[in-house]
Amino acid sequence: MRYNAGMKEPDAPRHMTSEELRRHGHEVVDWIADYLATLEQRPVRSQVAPGEVRAALPSSPPRRGEPFAAVLDDLDATIVPGLTHWQHPSFFAYFPANSSGPSILGELLSAGLGVQGMLWETSPAATELETLVLDWLAELLDLPATFRSDGAGGGVIQDSASSATLCALLAARHRVTGGAATSAGVDRPLTVYASTQVHSSLEKAVRIAGHGTASLRLVDVDDEHALRPDALAEAIGADLADGATPCLVVATVGSTSSLAVDPVAEIAEVAHAAGAWLHVDAAMLGCAAVAPELRWVGAGLEHADSYCTNPHKWLLTNFDCDAFYVADRAPLVEALSVLPAYLRSAASEQGGAIDYRDWQIPLGRRFRALKLWMVLRWYGAEGLAAYVRGHVAHAAWFAEQVRAHPAFEVVAPVRANLVCFRHVDGDERNAGLAERLNDSGELYLTTTRLDGRLVLRLGVGATQTERRHVEAAWAAITAAESEESGR
Ligand SMILES: *Cc1c(COP(=O)(O)O)cnc(C)c1O
Repeated sequence: MRYNAGMKEPDAPRHMTSEELRRHGHEVVDWIADYLATLEQRPVRSQVAPGEVRAALPSSPPRRGEPFAAVLDDLDATIVPGLTHWQHPSFFAYFPANSSGPSILGELLSAGLGVQGMLWETSPAATELETLVLDWLAELLDLPATFRSDGAGGGVIQDSASSATLCALLAARHRVTGGAATSAGVDRPLTVYASTQVHSSLEKAVRIAGHGTASLRLVDVDDEHALRPDALAEAIGADLADGATPCLVVATVGSTSSLAVDPVAEIAEVAHAAGAWLHVDAAMLGCAAVAPELRWVGAGLEHADSYCTNPHKWLLTNFDCDAFYVADRAPLVEALSVLPAYLRSAASEQGGAIDYRDWQIPLGRRFRALKLWMVLRWYGAEGLAAYVRGHVAHAAWFAEQVRAHPAFEVVAPVRANLVCFRHVDGDERNAGLAERLNDSGELYLTTTRLDGRLVLRLGVGATQTERRHVEAAWAAITAAESEESGR
């Protein structure tokens, strides 16, 4: 153990030795394997009260280092009971946050290597593996050739779909202002468009970019909650007449609320006629394209300027891993590249290398490609397809049960792995049901509002979810319904 050789100095920190790392590392991997194997016995949603976790822990840090076992004890006693178990097979809330064995190990290796991949030169393999893995993913999802790295475009891993949206906005604004916005700032109104169902990260992006919420136009949707291209054309026309510059249009493929799918090709026509950039946000549903029969989720993408989907939502890769693609990388890189003397490198200047720092907001970047690479190699195209296919079948089964029950109705098209449904007796009844079910700890589902009504959402997408978990969820829902009806 060479790096521990400094221990003779009186004030030297006591590093974990190789032997200790090995021993505690094995303990931690055992701990994780046990956790994942016993998830089903835990309440899905944490049952703690606000402040309970903090109150159970010392208010100040230790003066001297503590044994590792003491930390693991606190993890069991205090931290885990204060968690909502996103990997629980009966987690049907929000959207899933996937993890898997190969992904966990990839993440661990990334931490073990501790490299920075901001420039090609700071870790060539981190950059080249990322480029390769994103080309692999483009192939697995059958994305248009424009997004592959062998042309003008390419992919990059962002921390989240929210960052992808912000990057798309900055690239769009660079392009529509001919670079002026990047160097001199925004001197005329640049407008941004999306449907009323767009993810909240778009509003955050326009605020961060300094355009302000007033630049955002939320366009009307049809009765399946998809953006209406005619309403988009009308909004753009009004802004053009007012002297504004349409900058960015965001189409959503799989809205967070109800998995609504905007008509990408028609939207592209309207957006491009006005000179605007089209970003497609397919945060969860885009992953479905690993199954050939679900490739309709990629319809129209050949017209998009940028696209993102989250393997951390539905492709077995733990957070954070958002795959962001651009059809032309020049505006993105030009908008985000700042080159101080201390970051110059011969490889970059000769133009043969990608520096991913220019494709994202922060400078530093983790080696995230490693976990995605491990997942793609472990499961293979067939395994990934079988995975999403299973969830889609479970959701279809659940929707059938809902449709056959007199007290419930399905309230949005069931396209993939999300079922929006409600009790026919109204909002209060549905809110009561959700609370009762989630308090039980047996399952976890969340609610949304569609057409002004409170709706229950059951999203199937956890790594361990099988048909029996969805059957148990339906049994719990109908039991709660009849108990309440019987009161
Ligand atoms: C979940 C979601 C997001 C946000 O994803 P993050 O990766 O957590 O930022 C954005 N858009 C849609 C459609 C989503 O469903």
